[in-house]
Amino acid sequence: MPSIAKVIVDTPAMTVDRPFDYLIPQQWQTVIQPGMRVAVPFGPRQLLGFVVAVADVSDVTDITKLKSVTELFDVRPVLTPEMLALGEWMAQDSLNFRISIFQTMLPNLMRGSYEKYVVLKNWENTAAVALFEGAETLDWQTVQASPHVHNVQKWVSEGDLATVYRVSSKETKKTKRALKNCLTTAALLAAVEAVGSKAKAQQKALYQLIDLGESECFVDEFKQAGVSDTTIRTLEAKGYLTVFQKEVDRDPYAGVAFEPSEPLLLTAQQQQVYERIYAVQQAGVTKTFLLHGVTGSGKTEIYLQTIAQALAAGKQAIMLVPEIALTPQMVNRFKGRFGEKVAVLHSALSAGERLDEWQKIERQEASIVVGARSAIFAPLTNIGLIIIDEEHEATYKQEDYPRYHARDIALWRADYHNCPVVLGSATPNVESFARAAKGVYELVQLPERINQQPLPLVEVVDLKDEQRAGNNSSFSRVLLEKIKDRHQKGEQTVLMLNRRGFASFVMCRDCGFVPECPHCSITLTYHKRGHQLKCHYCGHQAPMPPTCPSCQSPHIRQYGTGTQKIEEELLELLPSIRIIRMDVDTTTRKGSHEKLLRAFGNKEADVLLGTQMIAKGLDFANITLVGVLNGDTALNVPDFRAAERTFQLLTQVSGRAGRHHLIGEVIVQTFNPDHYSIQLAKYQNYIGFYNHEMQLRKLTGYPPYYLTTLVQVSSTDERKGEQTMAQIVQFLKRELGEQTILLGPTPAPIAKINNRYRYQCLIKYKIEPALRETLRRVLESYQKEIRNGLSVSIDFEPYMMM
Ligand code: ADP
Ligand code: ZN
Ligand code: ZN
Repeated sequence: MPSIAKVIVDTPAMTVDRPFDYLIPQQWQTVIQPGMRVAVPFGPRQLLGFVVAVADVSDVTDITKLKSVTELFDVRPVLTPEMLALGEWMAQDSLNFRISIFQTMLPNLMRGSYEKYVVLKNWENTAAVALFEGAETLDWQTVQASPHVHNVQKWVSEGDLATVYRVSSKETKKTKRALKNCLTTAALLAAVEAVGSKAKAQQKALYQLIDLGESECFVDEFKQAGVSDTTIRTLEAKGYLTVFQKEVDRDPYAGVAFEPSEPLLLTAQQQQVYERIYAVQQAGVTKTFLLHGVTGSGKTEIYLQTIAQALAAGKQAIMLVPEIALTPQMVNRFKGRFGEKVAVLHSALSAGERLDEWQKIERQEASIVVGARSAIFAPLTNIGLIIIDEEHEATYKQEDYPRYHARDIALWRADYHNCPVVLGSATPNVESFARAAKGVYELVQLPERINQQPLPLVEVVDLKDEQRAGNNSSFSRVLLEKIKDRHQKGEQTVLMLNRRGFASFVMCRDCGFVPECPHCSITLTYHKRGHQLKCHYCGHQAPMPPTCPSCQSPHIRQYGTGTQKIEEELLELLPSIRIIRMDVDTTTRKGSHEKLLRAFGNKEADVLLGTQMIAKGLDFANITLVGVLNGDTALNVPDFRAAERTFQLLTQVSGRAGRHHLIGEVIVQTFNPDHYSIQLAKYQNYIGFYNHEMQLRKLTGYPPYYLTTLVQVSSTDERKGEQTMAQIVQFLKRELGEQTILLGPTPAPIAKINNRYRYQCLIKYKIEPALRETLRRVLESYQKEIRNGLSVSIDFEPYMMM
């Protein structure tokens, strides 16, 4: 009998990132399984830990030194064997701490303390009923310490008992009035006789109770069949049924009507793609498809139909979309096709809602998971298909610990389950397309829009010409004309202001002084609300100075362009135009994003003005004009992916116009009209862009020709940071191959954040078998320095080089 638990404890540190042995107390020896959470003594503290294995013997020689597991948090493992294996792989592949990985795999609420109860499901299990001694619930704290814990576990797995989480007061479960019957079917039939045929309403209700059998139902649902409150009260008084408060799963999309949808008859193009994927599904093998299809070419319909195939084969599916594309429109399409089988994981869910969705998946009540990045860890156990839509999006890479790319996790899980992965995009990541070109992925394509609708006409406007003509407004003459025209015709316009690496800042016109954050090497951003200057990195705030702090001139004012300012400018030019503004300021409240989109869809505004968050998922028939106010700002970012991001963004946003029967038009305003990313986006020429970009990547030695890893050091002590980075580079030079290129040490592009000085080195390599081991040693040797305010971070295939 296993008497040793191997436990990863909740301390994210290199030195303890390995399993520790603990004795399993007698009463839990048949209960504890890998994947369960326990509490264990660790030094002077009690820590949460994950059991990763159980064993009969310990590797520790002096077993009397071992301490015991003190608490058991789970009846059933919360991490499957697959998740444990995946965690181990992630730890080795990206040098993440095991504990951070396991916690990322679970909803937030499972990381901390919460209460858990056991409830009765099957009243016929008399032994279980006895355990409750008449109480409605049993406190898990008590159960786990009792001699019955083994039986409780067995009954939970057999469905006679269930566990429920009760989360902190703020997050209490919503409850609704529900009812269940108190009599056996035979007794109910007798009651039908007893109330007699005159009491039609009661008889009807009684028949309904008979149908209900042993299940419970909400009073609302019961009433929908035509039973009145009075009747329910009468039956309750007679002791036929009881009414009680029952928890409802908080459905974040409650109240949103899902239009049921049927599979569409695929076009010939779609059919070809579908058949390739279906063949792999049937063969039950692992294979990655890159689905390159222009916006509106019917990719989503293929996702829906291949998911249906997975379900038909008794399997499950994961569908990842970028966070901001997870709009009600998007969810609607999935719920409309698959209804209750869909669980949605969204960052705007409250912690409690997230837990509800997670449990729905874990209990196998949902077989399709639609969600953003972390949904890739959904606890499905029989995956038949994984889809990543808009696969080029940078949001699939998690930038905090644990660092991971959802695509890598998807490929790993697909390998585990022997199923296909579909990566879909109108503008695939250059590295993904290169993999498809080499045959590592299978390329499938949808080159045309459904019904051969033409792609929108794109016109590039040179802002230098506008300035020369004396137009200093944010709107070129042609864009303004077209907005007016659409306004008159009652058609809608989408305006995008690209804010990546760009925000409205304040400058003194006389001396050029620009206020910076005192803690970060970043200019402060002006916010009209409260007349404040804010730092977007550390949150520092200061009032807008009335005069220049440097030369006292009163001519200090806002430069650059924020969405607020654009809105004011447009209203000045066209006073009667109705504008909906969508940016971080207007969408921080939960559900506000959806509300704004719905309002725009209902034609409550003529113009939707927003940051790049509007570039995705919008699908309204009435949009016939898209204006990009500053097409090139993404180019001015010190990052080898700058051109790729510009191309992707412009292509995406152009795709919002003319998706239905009306022809769309796009105006891109830029200071770099001749840049290849802008010229090729104009013709939506992905292949042209890919070829050009690949040549440049080859010349400059960037992915996919080279792999990259970013090492960053940050320290509260400037010199210490600089020296440490230099030491690390010295060490890397000695340990790594001669072909490997080290760019650095250099200060990071943002040299200071939150009073920490930042240095970096980019490693570029083709083959470097010793890389992970070498970097592990770097991390290990600087572990003890963390206390002195120094930290070292390592990012494989970085997406953020700032
Ligand atoms: P994408 O995901 O590539 O942007 P969608 O799947 O959203 O494309 O399809 C674009 C539009 O075409 C949608 O309104 C969709 O309902 C419609 N559509 C997709 N496939 C078909 C089809 N086979 N027949 C008719 N309409 C289709
Ligand atoms: Zn000044
Ligand atoms: Zn700051």
